[in-house]
Amino acid sequence: MTSTITNHPDVVVVGGGQAGLALGYFLAKQGTDFTILEAAAEPAAAWRDRWDSLKLFTSARYDSLPGMEFPGDPDRYPTRDEVADYLTGYAREFDLPIELNSRVRAVRRQNDGYLVELDDRACEARQVVIATGPFQTRFVPPIAEDLRDGVLQMHSTAYRSPESVPDGRVLVVGGGNTGFQIAEELSASREVHLAVGSRQSPLPQRVLGRDLFWYLDATGLIRKTTTSRIGKLMRKREDTLIGSNPRRARRHGIKLHGRAVAAAGSTVSFADGADLDVRSVIWATGFQVDHSWIDVAVFDETGRALHERGVTSSPGLYFLGQLWQHTRGSALLGWVKDDAEYIAQQVASFRPGAARQLEAAGAPSTN
Ligand SMILES: Cc1cc2nc3c(=O)[nH]c(=O)nc-3n(C[C@H](O)[C@H](O)[C@H](O)COP(=O)(O)OP(=O)(O)OC[C@H]3O[C@@H](n4cnc5c(N)ncnc54)[C@H](O)[C@@H]3O)c2cc1C
Repeated sequence: MTSTITNHPDVVVVGGGQAGLALGYFLAKQGTDFTILEAAAEPAAAWRDRWDSLKLFTSARYDSLPGMEFPGDPDRYPTRDEVADYLTGYAREFDLPIELNSRVRAVRRQNDGYLVELDDRACEARQVVIATGPFQTRFVPPIAEDLRDGVLQMHSTAYRSPESVPDGRVLVVGGGNTGFQIAEELSASREVHLAVGSRQSPLPQRVLGRDLFWYLDATGLIRKTTTSRIGKLMRKREDTLIGSNPRRARRHGIKLHGRAVAAAGSTVSFADGADLDVRSVIWATGFQVDHSWIDVAVFDETGRALHERGVTSSPGLYFLGQLWQHTRGSALLGWVKDDAEYIAQQVASFRPGAARQLEAAGAPSTN
C-alpha cells in the first residue's frame, strides 16, 4: 500500500479509549508532539458499544482518569452513557489532539521510527503506542455454526436491551459479569438459561458498606504486579464475578447449566449431557485480541504481544491498557493512569540514537 504521508508527529497513539486518553493527558503535560488516531467517530467507542443498562462494577470513586474527577456521588455505580460522556468531556477538557474516523491499518518499522498507515493517508512517527483495548474482536465458539437459521444468535456486544431479543426461551452462554448481568435483565420478561463453563469466584460488590475496590486498593492487591506471587495467583482467578453469583441468578428464576458443548438445529447440549431447545442464544463468550495489523516482530507464535510493562523490544513501540499489562488495575478506568504515566516517561526518555545502537548490538530485529 502506498499512501501520502500527511503528518510527522513524534508520537502516534493508536486508540482513543480511556488508555489512549490517559496517556494523552501525560504526553500533553510534558509537551510531547503527538496525535491520537481513533477508528470511531467519537472517543470512548467501546463503551458506546456495550448494552444499554450496563452499570460499572467499579464505583465512581474508582473511575477517574488523571486530572479530572468522575462527577457525582463517589459511591454510586455509573452507567455506560455516563462513562462515555465523562471520557468525551475529558478529551475536550484537556484539548487532546484526537483524529476521529482514523482506523490504523498497519504499523511498520521504517528508518528510525514507524510508518503508520490508514485508509487514506499515512504518518511517520518516532514512537507508537498501541492503546486499542483489551477486548477487540468478538469470540463465539464454533458450535454456534451448528444452530439452525431460525435461532436468533448474537454476541453480547450486539445485545442492547430485552427488546433486541425475540420472545421465547433464551440461553445466555458465558458465566462472566456480562453473562450474569444480561441473563438477569432478560429474566424479568422470559425464561432464561445460563451456561457457565468454568468455576467462578463470586465476590460481593460491597463489604461492610464499602466498595470491593476499596479493599483491593487499601490492601495494595490491585497494584500487585503480574510477576509477583500474589499477582500470578490472582491472574489464575481472572474470571472473578463482581456483584453477581449463581445463588442470586437462581433467585431471578435463571436456570444454570454447565458448559455448552454442542448444538444441532435449535438444541444446545451441555457438558452434563442435558439438552435444551432454544429460541435465542446470546454469546457472552468474550473477546480476542487482534494485533495482526502490527507488522513488527514483537509477538510470540500465538500472537501474544511481548513486552515488559508495555515496553517492547522494538525501540519506541509500546502497548497500553492490556489486561494485566502490569497489574490487575492495568485495564481498569481508575488505575490505567499508573501505566499511562510510566509509558509517558518512557516516551520522554527515548533516545533514537541509543536505540539504534541497541538494535545493532543484537536486539530482536523488526520486520
Ligand atoms: C462489559 C464490560 C464492562 C466493564 N466494566 C468495567 C468497570 O465497571 N470498571 C472498569 O474500570 N473497567 C471495566 N471494564 C474494563 C475496561 O475499563 C474497558 O474494557 C475499557 O473500555 C478499556 O479501555 P481501553 O482504552 O484500553 O480500550 P477501549 O475502550 O477498547 O478503546 C480502544 C479504542 O481503540 C480504537 N481502535 C481499535 N483498533 C483501532 C485501530 N486499528 N485504529 C484506530 N483505533 C482503533 C477503538 O475504536 C476504541 O475506541 C469493562 C469491560 C467490559 C467489556
